[in-house]
Amino acid sequence: MLEDLKKYLKGVRKVNLKKLERNIRVFVIEPFGHSKASEIKIRSNPAFFSKARIAPEREARKIETTSLGFKTPSLECFFCNPEECAKFSKETGLKKQYFLNDSFAFSNLFPFGKIHGVVVHNYKQHIVDPRGLILNNWIDSIKLVKKIGVISKKKYVSMHVNCGSKAASSLEHFHAQFHCEDEPLAKTALAMKLGNKKYWKSWVKALLEEDLVIDFDKESKVVFFVEWSPVFGKTEFVVMTLENSSFQKMNDKEINAVARFIDKAIRITIDRVSDQFNIVNLSAAPRDDFCNQFRIFSRAPLSHGIKSWEGYLEFSGETVPHIIPKRLAEIAKEY
Ligand SMILES: [Zn+2]
Repeated sequence: MLEDLKKYLKGVRKVNLKKLERNIRVFVIEPFGHSKASEIKIRSNPAFFSKARIAPEREARKIETTSLGFKTPSLECFFCNPEECAKFSKETGLKKQYFLNDSFAFSNLFPFGKIHGVVVHNYKQHIVDPRGLILNNWIDSIKLVKKIGVISKKKYVSMHVNCGSKAASSLEHFHAQFHCEDEPLAKTALAMKLGNKKYWKSWVKALLEEDLVIDFDKESKVVFFVEWSPVFGKTEFVVMTLENSSFQKMNDKEINAVARFIDKAIRITIDRVSDQFNIVNLSAAPRDDFCNQFRIFSRAPLSHGIKSWEGYLEFSGETVPHIIPKRLAEIAKEY
């Protein structure tokens, strides 16, 4: 399938990654007088004005762990009982709740926007670990959000995930959240300044040569890759619709490929990196020149106790991958 991607991108000029990477050597004298040198790659990601500092040395650094033990069992799960969940009010122009097979969508109880919803991929089973979902649960939940997005007539529709307490999930039953708004999310607006379709294709072409592309669906032109310069987290998978700018415009083939690739990215993340992760969906309006994309990135696992992975550098827009992107791509390809 990567041959198909190569063919599809024929004639696209690739981004020159060499110009975006700086190697620096750093020296330090350790407490007992030994001098130590190491190399760090600083990679700029122009679409997000972000940087990633690739320092494989740090990977070996021991992270102290204070286990919290496992999570406390919840008393009662609302997401298993649609009647106990919030409903969209008539001011939104939506029905109270939406159902499709095992999936259902409804209003967030504490909305941060006019239309801020929750979608439970499978409400018929109390699924905490998303590896317990089947592909159709993903497809159905995406279709529900798409339907609500279209009914809402809002230009910017996006669907996101917080999974695990360290990723800010408050209820353990696996679910996603969605927004239907008049304006793009701030990071989407930023990425739209540079990232038109032509730009993303040239980015993907450069990453293909770096062996960072995991999969490509020839029919729908949906691509699945490891980010060369992670924007949000230490490890970052991207699922991108190369011919489509917005979530609510995805056709059935695109939805199918997106569901398949997100499901795989989550399985790899949980099995090999962390049980805590987020998905951010950068989705533009149907007529914008952009590529709709989902970024799946890890947070510190529960086994690290109360430790968090994000410090001042992350909040200043620079990530420090602990698994170098090339290695993450190898892990994903072996998977
Ligand atoms: Zn439940």
